[in-house]
Amino acid sequence: MLIIYSLIILLTFSAFSIIMLNNYRNTQIRNAEIRLFQTANIVADTYKGNRDEMIFTRMMVRSYGKQANARILIINTEREVIVDNYNDYIGKKINNEEIANSLKGKSASNVYDLGSKEVLQLSVPIILNEFGRDKIIGAVLLSADMSSINSNVRGLRKDMIKIGSIGLLISLMLTIFATHNFTKPLKKLTLGVEKISEGYLGYTIEGNRKDEFGKLIDTFNNMSSTLSNIERNRKSFINSISHELKTPLTSIKVLIESLSIGNRNIDTYREYLEDIYSETERMEKLVNYLMKSIKLEDTILNIKEEDLSIILSDTVKLIIPYANRNNVDVHFRNTENIRVRCDKDKVKEMIFNLLDNSIKYKDICKENNFVSIDLEKRNNTAILKIKDNGIGMDENNIDSIFNRGFRVFDGQFIGNSRIEGYGIGLSIVKSIIDKHGWHISVKSTLGSGTTFTIEIPTIS
Ligand code: ADP
Repeated sequence: MLIIYSLIILLTFSAFSIIMLNNYRNTQIRNAEIRLFQTANIVADTYKGNRDEMIFTRMMVRSYGKQANARILIINTEREVIVDNYNDYIGKKINNEEIANSLKGKSASNVYDLGSKEVLQLSVPIILNEFGRDKIIGAVLLSADMSSINSNVRGLRKDMIKIGSIGLLISLMLTIFATHNFTKPLKKLTLGVEKISEGYLGYTIEGNRKDEFGKLIDTFNNMSSTLSNIERNRKSFINSISHELKTPLTSIKVLIESLSIGNRNIDTYREYLEDIYSETERMEKLVNYLMKSIKLEDTILNIKEEDLSIILSDTVKLIIPYANRNNVDVHFRNTENIRVRCDKDKVKEMIFNLLDNSIKYKDICKENNFVSIDLEKRNNTAILKIKDNGIGMDENNIDSIFNRGFRVFDGQFIGNSRIEGYGIGLSIVKSIIDKHGWHISVKSTLGSGTTFTIEIPTIS
């Protein structure tokens, strides 16, 4: 991986350097060309006006040649050199492309590679205007060594290689750092997912990063703990259901065994069979309850606009006989009409379950047991409070009471009598609340009582 990163960086930088160096060299040559063309034109113009003063012309050519660091030749139409600032070519004939072009009236230039050095050669025509007509009387040929440009380019290349090497080193270090930074949390996450798929629910990944990986790790840890809770609830649910089924099954077994030993009179048979029947009823009730709570998950609500105060008073009416039988006072004052969107039957069932629990979990040590039901409207929310002064619950249990199969004390007793229940009622309540998109909260103190608060959006 690292080799690929290095190659990518190296290739990108090399391509960039080559393009940059070429551009730099071309610009330098173009600038030199412009400058030398200007010099050549000045020489041509000056020569044109001073053709008869050869000494002046030579001095002028020498001076411009020195200034431009170039060889300057003035050539006549016979291609014969008449002025040379180095005096080597005087009288010699020169025949090259640039001169040929200039004697036809065109300026021309070219760069020649002479092996050890590069030479820029250019020429301009010397045009005389006589009686309104242009006449070519010669050309100025100028050649300059491009070595200085090339040595500049070489210097720049060296600098770029230095910068490139340092840059490559830094980017490799950064790549190693970044790769390590990315792969480390990914490896941890992969291990976490593997652990979960192997069944280690609740496996957590350590780390306190603040970036996106940190968020991902937090989400993973939350998911893992949720899965572990679900698994724990599932086990405790199966455990409590098995326990609930085992008790009547054991009773039935014992009753049948007793009946099968010896001869009994018909009344004993009847009595034992009645016991078997009531145990079977108990199991049937549990199974029905279970099926109901599971079915509820897939039920589609029949939502309509309803009056919550009417639903509430109807449900309270249903529970009053049961409350009376258990010596629990019901405090309920009918309130103004509060219109909400809900499934009436499901909401009745939900309120009934809560009231049933408030009566069931009364505190027998208290002289007066009560359940109070309050409904009020605050802004666009109806607040329904169901409060009792029953046995209450320990704070540690409150988070679990809505889990299917959870009971604070398995097989609860009030005095000598066992409190009937399967730990399903509140899971049904929560399911109905969730399906409506409402909110439920619980406050409870052991020995003081419990308050359930439900917040319901109203139709304004
Ligand atoms: P159960 O069939 O056991 O009543 P629920 O799901 O209705 O099952 O309730 C779960 C547990 O929550 C109960 O076993 C009980 O311990 C506790 N609980 C529920 N409501 C009350 C209440 N009003 N007062 C005290 N404890 C309660």
